[in-house]
Amino acid sequence: MEKVVSLCKRRGFIFQSSDIYGGLSNTWDYGPFGVELKNNLKSSWWKANVYAREDVFGIDAAILMHPKVWQASGHVKNFFDLKSDCKSCKKRFKSADLKDKDKCPECGGQLTESRPFNLMFETHQGPVEDAANLIYLRPETAQGMFVNFLNILDTKHPKLPFGLAQIGKAFRNEITPGNFTFRTREFEQMEIEYFVHPDEADKFFAYWVEERFNWYLKLGLKKENLRKRPHTKDELAHYAKSCTDIEYNFAFGTSTALSADGERSRTTGWSELEGIANRTNFDLEQHEKFSGKDFKYFNDTTKEKFYPYIIEPSGGVDRSVLAFLADAYFEEKVHPRTNLNKAADKQEIGAGVKDDTRVVLKLHQDLAPTKVAVLPLLKNRPQIVELAKRILGDLKKSFVTVYDDTAAIGKLYRRQDEVGTLYCVTVDVQSLEDKQVTIRDRDTMLQDRVGIDRLKEYLLEKLV
Ligand code: ATP
Repeated sequence: MEKVVSLCKRRGFIFQSSDIYGGLSNTWDYGPFGVELKNNLKSSWWKANVYAREDVFGIDAAILMHPKVWQASGHVKNFFDLKSDCKSCKKRFKSADLKDKDKCPECGGQLTESRPFNLMFETHQGPVEDAANLIYLRPETAQGMFVNFLNILDTKHPKLPFGLAQIGKAFRNEITPGNFTFRTREFEQMEIEYFVHPDEADKFFAYWVEERFNWYLKLGLKKENLRKRPHTKDELAHYAKSCTDIEYNFAFGTSTALSADGERSRTTGWSELEGIANRTNFDLEQHEKFSGKDFKYFNDTTKEKFYPYIIEPSGGVDRSVLAFLADAYFEEKVHPRTNLNKAADKQEIGAGVKDDTRVVLKLHQDLAPTKVAVLPLLKNRPQIVELAKRILGDLKKSFVTVYDDTAAIGKLYRRQDEVGTLYCVTVDVQSLEDKQVTIRDRDTMLQDRVGIDRLKEYLLEKLV
């Protein structure tokens, strides 16, 4: 994980927030490559869960909501962790993480008794800071979908089962944030609230667990690094009947797992990426109680009126980005190859490269921040540069394409490998004669010579 963190900082994926002031702890900014990766991840999720389906609709609700939402949802009463403070060093700990409930793990001082600590960030709406104006930054995007349930019924008239999907920021005043972007106080969620007949809740719960698990696999996470972990009864949130986490084997962290005899054991590495929960009809009933509006669904064929159950796949954008980065990180020895011509081999481990190890991010092509890099072999040959810039302009219309001429070719390849660029297009002296360029594949490092007039078509075929 340290290597991934170091790559993220070195190559502009993720920076410490407010770095020039010493940084705000556990808060991160996404740089040029990071924001592309994050946007690609979100758009892959949206495509799979909204565009590819007929039964899920997207929404984008406000972060600030009426304070009654959080009373109805149970967050004001129940959304807390138990914490203990050290009387000597004043550090704060999550009680669940403490081996010795009395002794500070940092300085050995005495700990206070554990007390509940609500994780919601509070603020005041408007200029007056009194209790009447108290509002919260949302700790989950889900409630924005529940409070719009009636609007969707009135405007789209969907039949059950149907879902709402949303991607957006959520805030939790975590007691112990950490592990880079894994646990932060400001993060993004991608959530679906899928409304079903209560009799079909178990079926759709199982369906969404599979659906979401497979989404991670399709986008390239290694199967051996992904697992499903059903929650034990005492772990379930106050609103849930069942919940299964999709976990990734990060190179840090702890997770609770069930051993064969049903006892809990601690395993390292496996940590939650996404939780799929059966929230029952809890939220709709509560919002009916607090708002006075009728949240029941009417089936005009069977004439049945009831509260739908809700199946919720709730994933973290930042955690997923971290998992995809960790999974795609490879260090590989590069050997001269015999199946290529000498010039190509020279390019691969030639000019500008000191060692024969390459760092490569083998991100899925839908996630890779940059699809193509155009590289002139000689930057002081105006005709080569002119041709390379013309190719760049053309490719930019179809793919995220960059230009780099700031080093020798071997080094340029290494730089693109490190940020996961799928194809490098090299323009050389011969290109001026034969109107062909070399295309190098990130993963195989194999090179093809392709006519410039066929270049776009060639890439489109590869990048479907
Ligand atoms: P955890 O047990 O790790 O605290 P959770 O069970 O409280 O997570 P949920 O309430 O199920 O998390 O939230 C859904 C998803 O939102 C999580 O699977 C995770 O990917 C993401 N998420 C939750 N809290 C954080 C956080 N503090 N930082 C980053 N992502 C988070």
